[in-house]
Amino acid sequence: MERLKGAEVSAKIKEQVQAMLEKAGGRTPKLAIVRVGERPDDLSYERGAIKKMEAFGLAAESRAFPADISNEAFQKAFAAVNEDPEIDGILLLRPLPGHLDEKAAENAIDPEKDLDGISPWNAAKVFAGDESGFAPCTAEAVVEVLKAYDIPISGRRVTIVGRSMVVGRPLSMLLVKENATVTICHTRTRDLPGTCRNAEILVAAAGRAKMLDQDYVAPGAVVIDVGINVDEEGKLCGDVDWESIQDTASMATPVPGGVGAVTTAVLARHLVQAALRQHG
Ligand code: NAP
Repeated sequence: MERLKGAEVSAKIKEQVQAMLEKAGGRTPKLAIVRVGERPDDLSYERGAIKKMEAFGLAAESRAFPADISNEAFQKAFAAVNEDPEIDGILLLRPLPGHLDEKAAENAIDPEKDLDGISPWNAAKVFAGDESGFAPCTAEAVVEVLKAYDIPISGRRVTIVGRSMVVGRPLSMLLVKENATVTICHTRTRDLPGTCRNAEILVAAAGRAKMLDQDYVAPGAVVIDVGINVDEEGKLCGDVDWESIQDTASMATPVPGGVGAVTTAVLARHLVQAALRQHG
């Protein structure tokens, strides 16, 4: 089984970003990462994203707020980030604490700065196959991996396990745009192993450690693992049981080292796109 390496895909995106930056007229696009509280997942994602922006020659800063900030104060602070002319793009780390109105933030975010496609405006564009919007970075990262490795998508049967607004649903639309035949699975899907085995490309985005083993994979299938989980030994792992699919799948993305690295590279590309659209 061939290992599909996120770092290689990220390096290709870096070249695109550098070519795009030459058109930015010397201005360095700047990302604001909006974080509420100190959740370890958020802190780790924030660190990774800032490191990646810097490695790509872009600027990034954290706009962090205490976990007990009132909804009114948070919405006001979020509006200030939205209106800040120094900020070209925004990444809102979610989920927000339960007392904050996440929907209000999704509706308020400037669609031109909405790098992770959380606004209804961008979701509608993804649904319509309109590339002028921003798709969620992880969903776009999956398509990037397939394209970077010249894996044909058109006409292929793709099964996605997971129907969230962050991964499964937008990804299904991006793949339909690429002329794939897409099946979306979730917790009510009957015969999940059989439905997955029908796929030529299987995308795992369920958030269940090592749930998909060889029984879910057709011989020769390509497996893209979006999951980020921690196993019983406290080690990072995906939704796919890597060892189990070795003799079944033809290619697969590892965790770590797969889709995650591509997600932040796509975020960087979105940042430059946003800056060019806003400032020419
Ligand atoms: P989520 O909102 O919890 O959605 C999980 C989806 O998987 C739901 O649609 C759920 O079905 C389905 N599901 C869960 N268990 C299942 C099972 N046993 N059988 C069939 N379907 C099942 O999660 P998410 O935000 O989409 O994230 C999914 C995974 O991707 C997580 O591990 C997350 O950490 C990871 N992730 C990675 C990146 C990256 O950059 N690599 C970015 C974002 C997320 P129902 O709808 O029926 O509940």
